[in-house]
Amino acid sequence: MVFNRPLAMELGWDVAAMEPYAAGIFSGNHVPRGAAPIAMAYAGHQFGQFVPTLGDGRAILLGELLDCQGVRRDLQLKGSGRTPFSRQGDGRAWLAPMLREYLVSEAMHALGIPTTRSLAVVTTGEPVWREAGALPGAVLTRVATSHVRVGTFQYFAARGDHEAVRILADYVVQRHFPELLESPAPYLDLVRMVCARQARLIAQWMGVGFVHGVMNTDNMAICGETIDFGPCAFLDRYDPDTVFSSIDAWGRYAFGNQPRIAAWNLARLAETLLPLIDPDPRQAVAWVTEIIQDFPERFEALWLDGMRAKMGLETREEQDLLLIEEWLQWLHSGQADYTLSFRLLGQAVGVGADAAELRALFADPAGLDQWLVRWRARLARDGHRSDAERQARMHAVNPVYIPRNHLVEEVLDRAVEQGDLQPFMRLYELLQRPYVEQPGMERYAAAPPAGREGYQTFCGT
Ligand code: AMP
Ligand code: MG
Repeated sequence: MVFNRPLAMELGWDVAAMEPYAAGIFSGNHVPRGAAPIAMAYAGHQFGQFVPTLGDGRAILLGELLDCQGVRRDLQLKGSGRTPFSRQGDGRAWLAPMLREYLVSEAMHALGIPTTRSLAVVTTGEPVWREAGALPGAVLTRVATSHVRVGTFQYFAARGDHEAVRILADYVVQRHFPELLESPAPYLDLVRMVCARQARLIAQWMGVGFVHGVMNTDNMAICGETIDFGPCAFLDRYDPDTVFSSIDAWGRYAFGNQPRIAAWNLARLAETLLPLIDPDPRQAVAWVTEIIQDFPERFEALWLDGMRAKMGLETREEQDLLLIEEWLQWLHSGQADYTLSFRLLGQAVGVGADAAELRALFADPAGLDQWLVRWRARLARDGHRSDAERQARMHAVNPVYIPRNHLVEEVLDRAVEQGDLQPFMRLYELLQRPYVEQPGMERYAAAPPAGREGYQTFCGT
């Protein structure tokens, strides 16, 4: 169905030569020479409930390879059939959610956010049986810097196998954090590094309005990439309580809750490493507590810098947080579209600028005007950029195009129901350059039409 040629080249392949074999390999029908596929074991807290044995129920790790940059990457098939961890599942996947992951993960990458990548989606020609009946089966190939999750550590820790946790931790340090090889406290530093990467990742998610939807500990990758695109979706209107997933009844994974959940998950990771960190449990707990407690502040600093950039600010002032929070309150109370309002704010740079388009997004724009005056005054204190320069800098971090829910639905419907991939490819291409306005594509930048809000996502297994 789709094959990511640029990514294949990044992996060092001769694309023309391999193309005839691609469908065979990426459906799992042909195992490449030298590959020894495995299914990975892991555990995880799912919505807060610990499950000691999860694992790749419907994914197969084909193997690892070194890409053009010499970076080791994992290749995984998703939906290729049962594994020892399938539990009640069939190990299969159907076309729409696999195309969805392809589209959204590649959009995340183009937005500049660390993520697993998508290499291919292949239809199997076999039906997959779900509640809705027979659906077209498909296999997605995803590429990750590694698939080691917080839950991978939990798997061994839950069995009391501290030696295995040590082997895993050493492996992860070597693969992802080689700078820690010389550290006098590598396991504590490992916690610190994973926290730093997650803080950055979540700050980036929050910047573009991404809601992951299932931040279970088994869906948090140690390497800091976004992983497991199930019920994820992007905000339309700004509301920190936004939940898209049909199974997240309590809003555990609501947009505004993501930093807190990340810290919670990281505490679960830290717990697994305690015996390696210090033989005295109380001392070990004290060390990691400090790091975990530091997370909110670390996150907020990164988030704040991200928000400053989105507002065109390059310097830091103490009052910035207040200015940003007020802006977000206006967005919230005005029910304004998150992506559009930031983009149009860039248009409103400059004292004489016309903010009509921006104002039109707000239910009641009167209060916004006062805020704009203060924002412009703050910009005036910020440096000596011209308005045009400032606007260009803002546009470079405020996307025009995100995978809007109503558009994603639309192109998936067309692809699955009518076998027409053209709308899918058009959206995919557009999302490859999310920060550049493209003529004739206004519809793709617009907020959902009335009546298309209240979007719900399903796990789509
Ligand atoms: P997820 O919600 O996709 O993160 O999956 C949670 C767990 O269920 C993981 O262990 C998956 O491997 C497993 N799983 C999800 N869908 C299937 C399926 N169709 N067949 C077998 N296992 C599955
Ligand atoms: Mg998962």
